[in-house]
Amino acid sequence: TLLSYFRDNIERMSGYIPGEQPKDGIYIKLNTNENPYPPSPKVLNAVKEAVNDNLRLYPDPIVTVARIKIAETLGTKPEWVMAGNGSDDLLSIIIRSFAGPGDKVVFPYPSYMLYKTLAELQDGNACAVEFNEDYSLSDDFIVEDAKVTFIANPNSPSGTMIPHSKISKIASAIDGVLVVDEAYADFAEDNCLSLVEKHDNILILRTLSKSYSLAGIRLGFCIAQEPLIQGMMKVKDSYNVDRLSIAAVVAALDDQKSMRTHVEKIKDTRNYLTKSLQDMGFFVYPSQTNFVLARCMKGVSAHHLYQTLKSRKILVRYFNLRRLDDCLRITIGTREEIDTLLKNLKELVDTKKHTKIRDACYH
Ligand code: PMP
Repeated sequence: TLLSYFRDNIERMSGYIPGEQPKDGIYIKLNTNENPYPPSPKVLNAVKEAVNDNLRLYPDPIVTVARIKIAETLGTKPEWVMAGNGSDDLLSIIIRSFAGPGDKVVFPYPSYMLYKTLAELQDGNACAVEFNEDYSLSDDFIVEDAKVTFIANPNSPSGTMIPHSKISKIASAIDGVLVVDEAYADFAEDNCLSLVEKHDNILILRTLSKSYSLAGIRLGFCIAQEPLIQGMMKVKDSYNVDRLSIAAVVAALDDQKSMRTHVEKIKDTRNYLTKSLQDMGFFVYPSQTNFVLARCMKGVSAHHLYQTLKSRKILVRYFNLRRLDDCLRITIGTREEIDTLLKNLKELVDTKKHTKIRDACYH
């Protein structure tokens, strides 16, 4: 083989593969958990106003106004907040801050696949711990000497949630930091924000990408006690949040009403989609997010459904991975988009043949 210029761990790893972003806009796009509703008009105006000669100047490296606004909205202190270029940027800052070569990095499986990629980038020791069948966590999740433990809560792609009390127990039991990735928290009944006061090793991650309809802006934030935030400041890029994103986050958080209205509609549609899929014979995991994971009935190929839907210009997410290869992850679109999806699914699945709802058992 050719001599590689890359570090061995980079050479070996395959890299994270994000969901498809088709170039033409003719798809009903239910594959990457974007919000089907537009951002608040106040955000669009704020961004337009920020398009001015000041773009000549670097942004505030510590994004003071954004951190004040985030702290005010969440009921915490600006010193406990860090902003990033999407929560993926914060995940990358976290892994570089807390894990080096050989260090244990723990995450459940199946979950957000980026956690494994991050561990591999650091040449760390990636420890994937199986979720139980119902997506609860066993005590195996607490790994001795783990430097970083990740948990998406609610989880993707299952949409399920680990209770706040269990997260607190994990934080007390582990040695390193616990990252609670709350990308979907605004769609859930509960969250772990209050645990930051109690545990000096918890980092909570949030994003504007889902509930605030701003995946294209790339703005995420982290809430943790001040010593963690201060240490991570040394690791981040100097200007990791640009001027337009700062304008967007301040305006977005200022318009809670717009976000809440859209979230409520999405939750209604989520209930409707869940019920409709169950009526067809799918098993649907209880979701606290803006998507559902649906397991196909026996004899129905999830991959075939995915491909046929795609040929009909409806994109859903299919994972060719253990425990997921008989499932579809479907982002909650508008009611109209979901009706079109259901109409197509009904054509593809002979519902009479599958009267009994499939159980959660995965093989
Ligand atoms: N965490 C989870 C669990 C996610 O599903 C996503 C979206 N792919 C992210 C983080 C990244 O979100 P952002 O757009 O803020 O980088």
